[in-house]
Amino acid sequence: MSVSRLFVEADLAAGIEAPLSEAQVHYLRHVMRRPDGAPLLLFNGRDGEWQAALAGRGKKSAVAEIGDQTRVQAAEPDVWLCFAPVKRARIDYIAEKATELGAAVLQPVLTRHTAVERVNVERLRANAIEAAEQTERLSVPEVRDPVDLARLLAAWPEGRRLLICDETGGGPPIAEALGGLDAAVRAAPWAIAIGPEGGFAAEELTALRRIKDVVAVGLGPRILRADTAALAALACWQALVGDWRQPTPRLQADYRTSRVTV
Ligand code: SAM
Repeated sequence: MSVSRLFVEADLAAGIEAPLSEAQVHYLRHVMRRPDGAPLLLFNGRDGEWQAALAGRGKKSAVAEIGDQTRVQAAEPDVWLCFAPVKRARIDYIAEKATELGAAVLQPVLTRHTAVERVNVERLRANAIEAAEQTERLSVPEVRDPVDLARLLAAWPEGRRLLICDETGGGPPIAEALGGLDAAVRAAPWAIAIGPEGGFAAEELTALRRIKDVVAVGLGPRILRADTAALAALACWQALVGDWRQPTPRLQADYRTSRVTV
C-alpha cells in the first residue's frame, strides 16, 4: 500500500496520537479508501518526519498513531519570497512552486501597480501545505498577510539581504551577483523582491535600493511574467546561494514510488 504523507499541527513523538483534520480523514477514508492501520508519514515543521498508522475514533474522526521517526528536522535556507499578488491561477502557482523550491516565507506585497487587491491567504496556505506534503519538505513556508511595500521596508529586519529583480536594467546579471559569495554571506537570511505585472514604480525601486545589504539584478534579456520571474529568481538563488549547492541525499529505491500525498 502506498504511504500518505501529511502535515499536522500537533507535536510528534513515538507512542503518541496526532489528531487528523476532518479534511484529512475524509480524504484518507473516502478518496484513498484507507482502512485502520494504513501507513502514514507525518511532519509538522518542528519534529522531523514520523511513521504512523491510521486509527478510527468514531464514525467520522481518526487519529494517527505515531511509530518510529524516519527523518530528523534539518535547518532549511532562510529565504523570503516578497512578490506582488497576481491573478488567482498564477498566485496559486507561485505558492505551490515556491514551496517546492524551498522558500521559507511567502510575503505578498502591495505596490503602486499591483492590480490585485484581495489575496486569499488561507487558499495560499492550503496550496503551500499540499506542495510541502508532495515535495518531501519537512516544513511548510509561512504565508504572511499582504503588506504595503513601504511598511515592509520600514520594518526590514537588520541583516536580511535583499535581492531585487529589476527588469529595467543597470544591475548585474543574477549569476554574476550571486556567484562566488563567501560562506558568511550565503548563510545570511535573504529575501527576493519581485514586482507586479506593471513593474515596480521608479520611487519603489529607489526605496528598495535603500535597504542596507541590497543587490538589484537582471534575469536576462526577456521580460518575464511576475510568476515566472519569482520562480526563476528563487531557482537561481537556491543554485548559487542555497541548498542546491549540497548533494541531493540518497534515498531508498522505493522511497518515492511508495508514496502518495493528500
Ligand atoms: N515593467 C514591465 C511592465 O510594465 O509590465 C514588466 C514587469 S514584470 C512583468 C514583473 C516583475 O518581474 C518585475 O517587476 C521584475 O521584478 C520581474 N522581472 C521580469 N522580467 C525580469 C528581468 N528580465 N530581469 C529582472 N526582473 C524581471
